[in-house]
Amino acid sequence: MAKDRERKRPNILVTGTPGTGKTTTATALAEANQLRHVGIGDLVRDKGLHDGWDDELECHVINEDLVCDELEDVMEQGGNIVDYHGCDFFPERWFDLVVVLQTDNSVLYDRLNKRGYTGSKLSNNIECEIFQVLLEEAKESYPQDIVLALKSDTVDDIDRNVASLTEWVRQWHPTS
Ligand code: ADP
Ligand code: MN
Repeated sequence: MAKDRERKRPNILVTGTPGTGKTTTATALAEANQLRHVGIGDLVRDKGLHDGWDDELECHVINEDLVCDELEDVMEQGGNIVDYHGCDFFPERWFDLVVVLQTDNSVLYDRLNKRGYTGSKLSNNIECEIFQVLLEEAKESYPQDIVLALKSDTVDDIDRNVASLTEWVRQWHPTS
């Protein structure tokens, strides 16, 4: 029936507050399973899928429709790991698993500080993590049973998450 049942390999969305380890985790997971890592931030920048630069938030104003149009064909093929700090504008049917990475506030503070975030950019992201904004967004946008929250405080956590997700990928098979 639905087109999403045609893919032979799963699509995974890795989301979470900036700094929680999405790109690190997605890169390792893609490598371990020969999946395609789709970093939305890079895609938006490289293909100009935005409506200019937001001076206050210091990021591109992402054009969600252009991003979804750009990705439709590869998502239909399956075997993608999408990496983005937002999740409510992708078609629900694209994903077989939605991973929400979570990091302890003080650990995240240090990571973002190291990345050069200061002032409201830093505090907004810490607040985003405290209030579990991405977990709520994921639960509102996808079936509860495909949303998985994973702790990402330490390098051991990354190794453990990549190992268990790799196991999940290997066991996954199309349901029709
Ligand atoms: P995101 O893509 O979510 O913004 P990154 O993967 O770019 O996060 O990670 C941000 C920084 O934090 C990187 O320097 C990375 O090495 C580090 N980092 C991410 N996750 C962890 C973790 N679980 N343990 C230790 N360091 C981490
Ligand atoms: Mn990233």
